[in-house]
Amino acid sequence: MSEDQHIAAPLRLFNSVTRSTESFAPIEQGHVRVYSCGPTVYNYAHLGNLRAYVFTDTLRRTLLWKGLAVTHIINITDVGHLTSDADAGDDKMEAAARAQAKSIWDIAAHYTDAFKSNVAALNIIAPSEWTVATDYVPQMIAFAEKIAPHHCYELETGLYFDSGTVPDYGALAGGRDDAAHARIDPVAGKRNASDFAIWRKSPPGEQRQMEWDSPWGKGAPGWHLECSVMSQARLGHPFDIHTGGIDHREIHHPNEIAQNQAFHAACCGEPDAATAGFTGARWWMHNNFLVDRQGKMSKSKGGFTTLFSLIDAGIHPLAYRLLCLGAHYRSELEFSAEGVGAALTRLKRLVMGVEALKARAEGVTWQSPRLDFLRANLHPKLAPLLEQFDAAISDDLMTPRALPLLEEAIALKKVPVDEKLCLIAAFDFALGLNLLTLNRADLRLQSKDAQITPEEIEAELDRRQSARASKDFALSDEIRDALAARGVEVMDGDPLRWDWRLSL
Ligand code: AMP
Ligand code: ZN
Repeated sequence: MSEDQHIAAPLRLFNSVTRSTESFAPIEQGHVRVYSCGPTVYNYAHLGNLRAYVFTDTLRRTLLWKGLAVTHIINITDVGHLTSDADAGDDKMEAAARAQAKSIWDIAAHYTDAFKSNVAALNIIAPSEWTVATDYVPQMIAFAEKIAPHHCYELETGLYFDSGTVPDYGALAGGRDDAAHARIDPVAGKRNASDFAIWRKSPPGEQRQMEWDSPWGKGAPGWHLECSVMSQARLGHPFDIHTGGIDHREIHHPNEIAQNQAFHAACCGEPDAATAGFTGARWWMHNNFLVDRQGKMSKSKGGFTTLFSLIDAGIHPLAYRLLCLGAHYRSELEFSAEGVGAALTRLKRLVMGVEALKARAEGVTWQSPRLDFLRANLHPKLAPLLEQFDAAISDDLMTPRALPLLEEAIALKKVPVDEKLCLIAAFDFALGLNLLTLNRADLRLQSKDAQITPEEIEAELDRRQSARASKDFALSDEIRDALAARGVEVMDGDPLRWDWRLSL
């Protein structure tokens, strides 16, 4: 959507820096620069990780909806992220390579591809660029050299950032939390509990699969350094919005900010004190966790649920997207089989509603929604829905308020069907549910464990229909029970005629 297609409500976004919702305006008029902390590719992304990217995609789509151009970077962390928040210990990538007896490069390539396929399945718009950490090591060394004289000290294990050298370390986390840092394994010789490695030297006599020469000896960059360097290289500091999961608000992002401040001071020749308030990005936005009954979903806990496992269970990936959109990104969201099953049913109803409209449509105008055209020409019954939808997503991406408006639009009676589809396409542009192209059959994924094909189910249901027509209820019940035994739940009386589903 272009700039002239301006929509009325002002865009307001929650900024973790001020812990308040603020009016948003990009630094450069009409163009927003966004950096999202990307996945560490040592394992498959779990559904919690993917919530972070559904959130950034909703942000990106909302910015586009508001007529803004977006440059969006997501990084791929293929080095530097340790198995805990500690500065000592294994790199997650090295550990995975050892466990699977593969090279780190193979591990990284495999899980990067898997992540990108998840992104595509969730209809997340691919970033303008995926920046890969190992492509930026020379820039990381140059960055570290610049800040080292005033902000770093060397220990046997690496080059450390002295968090006492920046004026407001930890402000993003709500203040310096030494107790939290003290819980992290201590490294002998660190000046402050919250100091962190920006370069980790390879232990003497040990060769890592991934190591580079540096002024501090052979080794690998620290994880926090990567994001400061890649965001600076691709977007320049300050850029508009930095995103990540809420766990990053506590350590990773405060450390990035400290590095950004140090770099800013070094480059601008400013006294360190003058960098207070400089963070490298104007907005820092964080999605809350996806949790399950055991707590926050995490890769290291094991037993996590991936998008692949959902697909294997016969759940369409966009049902997971819809589940995410049904909760505000700053609220915790509990994942359960029932919850994602309900989201799938909701998606089916949406798709079937749109399918019915498409069957009645005469024109094809709905294929390219033009918001300005819509605003000028919408039927009086539809116009308020457009305004309310715009107000909802402009209010810090309130998708739970936007979704019922989509459902209302589909259900509205006595309005021209083409106009309705045009409005639905516009809503879907922001929500990314692919409603105009999905059909009922697409949503019926075959579960990996299914003992029966959709064709067999349909044939059984036809047989049951005839039994009921001839009032042979015993046979009808027998067929229903036999289907249930094979994992098929028959839903009698569904007004939208979604008459069966595979039980989870
Ligand atoms: P990682 O691959 O561990 O670096 O994480 C990728 C993204 O997922 C980061 O933005 C994390 O903050 C985010 N994340 C991790 N766990 C969860 C969770 N359970 N719910 C939501 N976001 C998460
Ligand atoms: Zn990051």
